[in-house]
Amino acid sequence: MARFSKAIIDHFTHPKNVGDVPAPDASAHVADPVCGDQVHLSVLVADGRIIEARFRAHGCAAALGTASILTEWILGMEPAALARLDEAAVTGKVGGLTPGQSHCARLAVDVLQALAQDCASRAQGQRT
Ligand SMILES: [Zn+2]
Repeated sequence: MARFSKAIIDHFTHPKNVGDVPAPDASAHVADPVCGDQVHLSVLVADGRIIEARFRAHGCAAALGTASILTEWILGMEPAALARLDEAAVTGKVGGLTPGQSHCARLAVDVLQALAQDCASRAQGQRT
C-alpha cells in the first residue's frame, strides 16, 4: 500500500547532505527530460575513496529521497565502483520504487555514472 518506501520517506522528510561540497573533487548534474527531475551531486575523494558527498535535487519526492540516500550510500566507495551500480541496486537500496518512481533509479544511475566519469577525467588531468 505504501506509496513510498520507508527509506525514501525518511530521507525526503529529513534530507541528508544537502548542498554542495566546497571545492569538490568531482561533480555531476543530470536531468530527466520527461518529468523534469534534476539531481546534482558533488563529492570529495581522498585515498581513492569518496569521503564526502552532497546533493541538490529538484523534482518528485522519490527523486529527492533517492538522491539523499545516494550521498550516504556512496561514502567509502571507489569512484570507479559508482559506474557499476545499476538500477536494480539503486531500487533495492532505496527500499523499492513503484513503476511510477522507477525513473528515479535511472536518474540515480545516470548521475553516478557521470560522477565516475568526472572523477576519471580529473584523475587523468592530474597525471599529465
Ligand atoms: Zn520524478
